[in-house]
Amino acid sequence: MKYNLVGQDGNAFALMAYTSKAMKEQGFSKGDINHVIEDAMASNYNNLIFVLDCAIQKCNLRADGMMPDYCECCGAELNKYADCIDGAWHCEDCAYEAVNG
Ligand SMILES: [Zn+2]
Repeated sequence: MKYNLVGQDGNAFALMAYTSKAMKEQGFSKGDINHVIEDAMASNYNNLIFVLDCAIQKCNLRADGMMPDYCECCGAELNKYADCIDGAWHCEDCAYEAVNG
């Protein structure tokens, strides 16, 4: 794994900086990064860890070349809401449909 929150300084701002840098390195847009940071700060520390860890997992998938740039259903550009379902990457809308019918 290229990125890991474990072993980083546990300070909230240090973790956000680490995650922003990882996302930038993996080509996420400034908007995506801002979204993650906003979500991370929206609630308590547990939420922060959850949101940042989710973003870090996506950075790792991109670093490994595992995550495509576009939805495998509709071709929309994937963002942080992208989800892997049954081995295929879906955009937020397609993932919602895949899960909810
Ligand atoms: Zn889609």
